[in-house]
Order: sequence, then structure tokens, then C-alpha cells
Amino acid sequence: MVVAVLLVVAAGACGHVDTASSAGTNERVPGPTPTAPIASAAVTTTTGPGTTTPSAGDDAGTTSADAAPVATAPSSVPPSITGAPDAAPPPPAFAAAVSLVTATDLSASWRSGCPVPVEQLRALDVSHWGFDGHVHTGRLIVAANEAASIVAVMGELYAQRYPIERMQPIDVYGGDDNRSISANNTSAFNCRAVTGGGGWSEHAYGRAIDVNPFVNPYVKGATVLPPEAAAYVDRGRADAGMIHDGDGVVQAFLAQGWRWGGSWTSIKDYQHFSTTGR
Ligand SMILES: [Zn+2]
Repeated sequence: MVVAVLLVVAAGACGHVDTASSAGTNERVPGPTPTAPIASAAVTTTTGPGTTTPSAGDDAGTTSADAAPVATAPSSVPPSITGAPDAAPPPPAFAAAVSLVTATDLSASWRSGCPVPVEQLRALDVSHWGFDGHVHTGRLIVAANEAASIVAVMGELYAQRYPIERMQPIDVYGGDDNRSISANNTSAFNCRAVTGGGGWSEHAYGRAIDVNPFVNPYVKGATVLPPEAAAYVDRGRADAGMIHDGDGVVQAFLAQGWRWGGSWTSIKDYQHFSTTGR
């Protein structure tokens, strides 16, 4: 019933997607089979307790005779048949789409002279759990050659139901890292200098990502970024979205060859993962 969808969109698709979808197992399946009759799609969405559920891949249309009686069943059958109190529908399958981006899309985060050409960046629209307990679609901008690894990480975090408060390109925050991390926004690419130093940040290459940065701040001595997040220097806390050494989030990144800034010695950058360890 739940089908994993991995879309690879070759071009276009610059519209920002931030739809909160709380339910509906089929709403992210954008009909890869244009020949499928609409009736069969309606059947798969309306059949709750699967008694005579036709298979979702029933594209041939030869058994359309059973579609009609099944479609009328939900109106006559009461939804709670047995005393199963927690018969919540299964969550939607993890979905990810990879698309090209343009300089216009990244007008606040990319400019000529950045170390990565805009043609080598990609937008990832991925499912994630939110702090509200619902499934959302967030957008990350990463280097093209890291798109697959980040999709894999995000799929793993989704499976763990690890909550991410928001996931928007930093252009939504005018390219301002301080605004983004103060909003606890998870983001990756940003053509900027390294924090507290010269040279390009790993974010400027699209090979670093900051995850729930408010509850996972950057700590260097007495400096905490964002400054309002000083309470989260205490890593004994267990608030939603916090990342701890060896936990599922760290493991998910490590499994893809990424490394965690929380394991650095002098500086602790608890929000930061990168491919280079910098
Ligand atoms: Zn970072």
C-alpha cells in the first residue's frame, strides 16, 4: 500500500513546496502512470480496512468490475468496525524529488564567484517529520554530487521520525545565516565565509548542512550561535530535535560518510554535518 517514491526531475520545478500533509497515504504519489483510470486511484484512497482492496498496481483495467462495489463501500460501512482504538492510518511514504536550480532561485545565497557553479547545485524536496507531529515537505539546496547521500540521510531520519522544525532554503531568510538559525531552520547551501574566520564555509560548496540549529547551537568558548539558544549548550537536555553523540541522527549521517561538528574538540557545532569534517 505504501509506495516509496523517488522522483528525479530533470529541469524546472523552482516553486517552493512547503505543504503540511497530516494524513493521506496516497497524496504524494503524483501519478507516474498517466494511463491509469481515475476510478482506480479513487478506490485506493477510499478503501480503509482492506477487505477486497484491489492492488495499487492494477493498471490493466481488466478487473474494473470490482472497482464499483468497493467504491461505494465506505459510505455504507461504518469506519470503526472493530474495537481497535489505535487504527491510525500508516504515515505517507518518504518522498524525495531532486531538481535543478537557477541563479534566480538562489538570488540571496549564490552569486558569481562562489566556489560552486549554480549548475552543480540541486534542490531536494524531501519528506520530514515536524515538531507538530505531522509530515511536511522541506527543501534543501546541496551539491549535485551529494544529493543522493542527503536523500538517503533524510529517508533514514524520516524512518526514525526524527523531528525537524522547518527546512527552507536560506534565501527565504535573505541569505542571512543568523536569521535562519534563530528560526531553527535546517539548511545546507549558502555561499558565505566560514563562521569566525576567513575562507569559504563548507556550506558554500553545498556539502554541509545545519540541522535544527537553534536547539543544536554553535559553541566556541563563551560564544553561542544563535545567542538566544544559550540554554541548549546544556547537552544533557533532551528537547525535540536535539542531536546527541551516537544517536540515530549522527548514525544516519555517518552511514553516508558525513561527519558531525558535535564531535569537534575546541569548537562544538552541534547543528553541523559535512562531508569533509570541517
Ligand atoms: Zn554548518
